[in-house]
Amino acid sequence: MRIFAVLGFLTVFSLGPAMPALAQIKVLTSFTVFADMARNIAGDHAEVVSITREGAEIHMFRPTPGDIKRGLGADVVLWNGLGLETWFERYLENLGDVKAYILSDGVEPILIAEGSYQGRANPHAWMSPGNANIYIDNIVRALSETDPENAAAYAANGEAYKAEIAATFAPIRAAIEALPEEKRWLVTSEAAFSYLARDFGLKEASIWAINADSQGSPQQVRRIIDLMRENRIPVIFSESTVSPKPAEQVARETGAAYGGVLYVDSLSTPDGPVPTYLDLLKVTSETIVNGLTAKP
Ligand SMILES: [Zn+2]
Repeated sequence: MRIFAVLGFLTVFSLGPAMPALAQIKVLTSFTVFADMARNIAGDHAEVVSITREGAEIHMFRPTPGDIKRGLGADVVLWNGLGLETWFERYLENLGDVKAYILSDGVEPILIAEGSYQGRANPHAWMSPGNANIYIDNIVRALSETDPENAAAYAANGEAYKAEIAATFAPIRAAIEALPEEKRWLVTSEAAFSYLARDFGLKEASIWAINADSQGSPQQVRRIIDLMRENRIPVIFSESTVSPKPAEQVARETGAAYGGVLYVDSLSTPDGPVPTYLDLLKVTSETIVNGLTAKP
């Protein structure tokens, strides 16, 4: 109830500055990755706002009254679903009657293999050049249904974007496929890369299953140390929105290399390493290839 009181207060003061020069729809996304995808597809036809900011933890985010204010007036809302944004349905209730699209619609889910989220869908389905087309099609549909006048532009931008992603990934896929079978392992902190691993034919293991779970308990660390020794896995990676310490500990104790940070749940600021979705996929995939192909 407190939230509604705050909201009433904010509404009064958000009747604000000048209208943009162009007739734009307002697109609201749950996190930065979808904001960038939506901007690529919308071009000048939309103002796109991400609720969570660059570098934020997105599973268990707690929106502030300011985050609610930024979402007001949205014409369409884009979020992932599959249990990713545990906070988002409650957040949406504050925005009134706005159409929301679940961008993972149509993805073939990979189920989480262990931990307290066992049997649920792994939510990180955007992290896959193969699934990118599904996300792009869903964004094109959401924007076109919201703003039918510009549907042709959204469709054309979506197709160009798909082609760019496909061209970026052909060489990376080839580099992974050139590795011997027993070297094709992807070990990370969070099991956020199941879809990428599936795309690239990598076996996957992680210290913990999902960031909403406990992270880096002694049992989790012990289990991964044993698995890495058993399979002689040469490298372990961490993820940008979590502490690298558990992965670094595993590297120290196994003598494996610490392969650095993979990006999945958030973009960086424009001057950082992954300001766009394409960068996120590319930098992450290249980091994996470099780690797996490094000479010991
Ligand atoms: Zn995650």
